[in-house]
Amino acid sequence: MPLVVQKFGGTSVADSQKILAAARKAVRARQEGNEVVMVVSAMGHNTDLLIDLARQITDQPPAREMDMLLSTGEQVSVALMAMAIHSLGYEAISLTGAQIGIKTDSTHTKARIQSISTARMRAALAEGKIVIAAGFQGIDEDFNITTLGRGGSDTTAVALAAVLEADSCEIYTDVDGVYTTDPRLLPEARHISRVSYDEMLELASLGAGVMHNRSIEFAKKFAVPIHVRSSFSDVPGTMITARPEAVDMPVGGAALAKDEARVSILGVPDKPGSSLAIFSKIAAKAVSVDMIVQNIGVDGIADVSFTVLSDDLPATLKAAEAAKAELGAESVTHGNDMAKVSVVGLGMAQQTGVAQRMFLALADAGVNILMITTSEIKISVLVDRAQGAQALRAVHQAFSLDTPPKGAADRGNDVAPSARGRGDAVAVVARLQKMEELSIDDIALDETQARVTISGVADTPGIAAAVFEAVADGGIFVDMIVQSYGREGKARLSFTVPQKQYQACLDLVAGLAKRLACGPASGSAKVAKLSISGIGMRSHTEVAIRTFRCLAEAGINIEMINTSEVRVNVVVDGRHGAKALEVLTKVFADAR
Ligand code: ADP
Ligand code: ASP
Ligand code: MG
Repeated sequence: MPLVVQKFGGTSVADSQKILAAARKAVRARQEGNEVVMVVSAMGHNTDLLIDLARQITDQPPAREMDMLLSTGEQVSVALMAMAIHSLGYEAISLTGAQIGIKTDSTHTKARIQSISTARMRAALAEGKIVIAAGFQGIDEDFNITTLGRGGSDTTAVALAAVLEADSCEIYTDVDGVYTTDPRLLPEARHISRVSYDEMLELASLGAGVMHNRSIEFAKKFAVPIHVRSSFSDVPGTMITARPEAVDMPVGGAALAKDEARVSILGVPDKPGSSLAIFSKIAAKAVSVDMIVQNIGVDGIADVSFTVLSDDLPATLKAAEAAKAELGAESVTHGNDMAKVSVVGLGMAQQTGVAQRMFLALADAGVNILMITTSEIKISVLVDRAQGAQALRAVHQAFSLDTPPKGAADRGNDVAPSARGRGDAVAVVARLQKMEELSIDDIALDETQARVTISGVADTPGIAAAVFEAVADGGIFVDMIVQSYGREGKARLSFTVPQKQYQACLDLVAGLAKRLACGPASGSAKVAKLSISGIGMRSHTEVAIRTFRCLAEAGINIEMINTSEVRVNVVVDGRHGAKALEVLTKVFADAR
């Protein structure tokens, strides 16, 4: 009998009528001849209310007790859902994470799934029952209740679909699918009929809260097709599979992350091991870092900037101060009211000028860019929070995201996982000890690039746009771009270009920098770019840490870095490419 997993989010079970409506969907699937596993979130905003209650008691509730508290939200809704199914004349059983046997590590409030036992669910299904699983929760080795992080019920659903080899995984929510950006922020956002795992992974981790990013890691790793759809209608939603909507679109979606903070450590000695000292201290606080910009040192000192969630700022500043003291750096600065605007698209890798278009749109909208990082399939910029929504709109418009692309694939018939490349997925997973373990596919060395850097970039809108317009007009192909947050409002902008275009680019940029009242321009005729690709690259903070550590131990200095969900790229001195590849290959051998 086919098996479906149906997940219902908070708004979809916000009151008794909605619980009954969700129960009817499950019963209908049962009547159509499926085995049904439901995954249910806490009712409405219950999780927020519980967090608020805890905060009324103390500013720093123990994480273990937070999990004990938060898990109750889901326990309420699964029990009610089971009653609703019974009232409709069908058999059902509600199960907590512990009762299912969802084993996690002990990182309270951000736990990772290690294994899931299917025996109890299978037995209940065999008895004809609808299984109702509490989302978002698990249990650690010592029987402590854990939770998977906000929005984690999606991850429970996809993980259950994976271990049960479900034929479909339906995510019922309060929108009828994935849009080009959050439709609540931008009414002109367009419904997407399908989106690839890689794009959804980036969008989810860059602010598109419609799916928990780790659920997409699971889906990609285990080849689970996901159907995101509305709880309140039967219209087709969005399929998340390996295939993108249209291959020739440079950008498929945009996202805004509103609660970002920037931290900069200025005057860091520019030597191997500095990044390690900084980021290992932050990782020890289980804070995940984005937009790391490690900019090339002038006179042997570098500035390191990065972003974290505003909530994580106090813990991050403590770690940054400790790193500053240890390294003898000059100072730590921060900005709290920041927003990150990102564009994502698989097509970006094949097209030039995408970054330039984005920067131009922002310049035209009068938005000042504070930091930039790019990867093969995404570009992120940091802006003042007050300009975030305006920046998102400008970018959405610049890429005509409100218009359907030509040649867009329709939803298509997605073949059930059992009939697809499931064998490959199972092989990937068989290599892993634990379900959410890091999985590395490839480590590659590119020795064809050079680096160009402009210092003293003025803190006004339009500079990046002018630079990349001129560079594109000069026929120069830009790969990685990073812009740091500098001292006294002066940033540093670095990018890589093909070695054979290095001199031409440097000449062009030197003249331009003068005209823009920036500069000087400098660079390196030969750099080596190392790319580590896989699944879970960013959510597993240890990838960056291990990279920093092994390069530091080999005496190799990192000149530029960028991270995405599927890749970490580092640029090092051109002389050290082969050595860097060797040490990285060795250090990640266990994850391949
Ligand atoms: P649930 O409680 O069902 O898990 P969430 O609130 O977590 O629902 O996710 C649904 C919400 O995600 C939508 O109401 C929408 O505002 C928001 N959202 C953010 N980005 C996107 C996007 N790109 N497409 C669709 N919805 C999005
Ligand atoms: N109830 C949890 C939350 O609000 C989990 C979820 O809804 O996915 O974050
Ligand atoms: Mg959600």
